[in-house]
Amino acid sequence: MFARSAFRVAQPLKTQARRYATETPSKGGSNAFFYAAGAAAIAGAGYYYLGGSTPVAAKVKEAVPAKPAFTGGDQGFLSLKLADVDIVNHNTKRLRFELPEGDMVSGLHIASAILTKFKGPNDEKATLRPYTPISDEGEKGHIDLLVKKYPDGPMSTHLHDLVPGQRLDFKGPLPKYSWSENKHDHIALIAGGTGITPMYQLCRAIFNNSNDKTKVTLVFGNVTEEDILLRRELAELENTYPQRFRAFYVLDKAPKDWQGNTGYISKELLKTVLPEPKEENIKVFVCGPPGLMKAISGPKVSPKDQGELSGSLKDLGYSQEQVYKF
Ligand SMILES: Cc1cc2nc3c(=O)[nH]c(=O)nc-3n(C[C@H](O)[C@H](O)[C@H](O)COP(=O)(O)OP(=O)(O)OC[C@H]3O[C@@H](n4cnc5c(N)ncnc54)[C@H](O)[C@@H]3O)c2cc1C
Repeated sequence: MFARSAFRVAQPLKTQARRYATETPSKGGSNAFFYAAGAAAIAGAGYYYLGGSTPVAAKVKEAVPAKPAFTGGDQGFLSLKLADVDIVNHNTKRLRFELPEGDMVSGLHIASAILTKFKGPNDEKATLRPYTPISDEGEKGHIDLLVKKYPDGPMSTHLHDLVPGQRLDFKGPLPKYSWSENKHDHIALIAGGTGITPMYQLCRAIFNNSNDKTKVTLVFGNVTEEDILLRRELAELENTYPQRFRAFYVLDKAPKDWQGNTGYISKELLKTVLPEPKEENIKVFVCGPPGLMKAISGPKVSPKDQGELSGSLKDLGYSQEQVYKF
C-alpha cells in the first residue's frame, strides 16, 4: 500500500538551523570548548547532541547525498522489480517498482521522466514509452508510476498485466523542464488525463520546499469525474496553500451536481483564471492528449523541438517563451 500523502508539512527545524547558522560563536569561552568537544565527539564516539535533542551525526549523515539509481549517460537499462500495485480507477493503476538498493533515490531532478522498455516473445522490436514518476525525488528504495491503460496500447497494457515480483526495464533520467526554487513568480499548469503527472512533479518540488513561494494555477481537464487523478493530493494542496495553489477542474461528461466547468478547456476559462501574459516572470506548462495540445498550445514536435505556439494560448497573447509543452 502507498503512503497517503506525498506532501510534507513545513519544517521548523530548518528555520531553527538557519537562525543558528547566522549566530557567530564568540572566540574562547564555553562555546570554544563546546565546538572542540563536539568535534572530538564526532571523531571519536561518532555522535553527540546539540541542545540535547538532535543527533548531529544523523544530520551529518543526511547531508551526504543518497546514491541515485538512474545516472543517465551510458548506464543503459535497469531491471526493476514490481513491488506493489494499487487500482486507482477503471483504467488507471499505480505501480511501485523497487530501486536496485533499498537506500537509493531515483536520481531524477524536477521535471524529468524515465523510459520503459518491453519486448514480448512475438514482438519484432521492443516497445519504448516514457513515464513520469509521481513519487518524491527524496523517497528511498522505490519509484511510483501512475499508468492509464489504452485498450490497444502495448506498453500500458503490459504494465497493467504485470504482477508483483515481475520486472521491467527502465532507463533515465529524461530531463524535461529544469525547476529551481522561485524560478517563476506564478506558473499555470494545463493538463489533460495522465498529463497531470509532470504537473504533480512540479507541485511537489514547489510545495515541499518552504523557500519556494511560487504561485500555481492548475486547469485540469478529464472526461468524467472518476478520471480525475491525484484528486485527494491536489485537494490537500488547495487546503494547505489557499493563497498559492488554485485548481480548476473541467469535465467533458459532468454529473448533474458538478460544481466545476464543463466541456473542453476553453479559451474563456483560461483568460479568466491564468496569470495574464503581461505579468512578469510567469510560465504556462501544457501536457495532455494530442487533441488538448493542439487546441491549447499546438503540438510538440519532438522531445527537442517544442514546435510553434498556436491555439488558445497564442490567441490569448502568450509568447513562445512563456509556454512549455511536456
Ligand atoms: C514525457 C512523457 C511522460 C509520460 N508520462 C506518463 C505517465 O506518467 N502516465 C501515463 O499513463 N502515461 C504517460 N505518458 C504516455 C505514455 O508514454 C504512453 O504514450 C501511453 O502509456 C500509451 O502507451 P501505449 O504503448 O500503451 O499505447 P500507444 O500505442 O502509444 O497508444 C495507444 C493509443 O492511445 C493514444 N494515446 C497515446 N497516448 C495518449 C495520451 N496521453 N492521451 C490520449 N491518447 C493517447 C494513441 O494515439 C493510440 O491511439 C507520458 C508520455 C510522455 C511523452
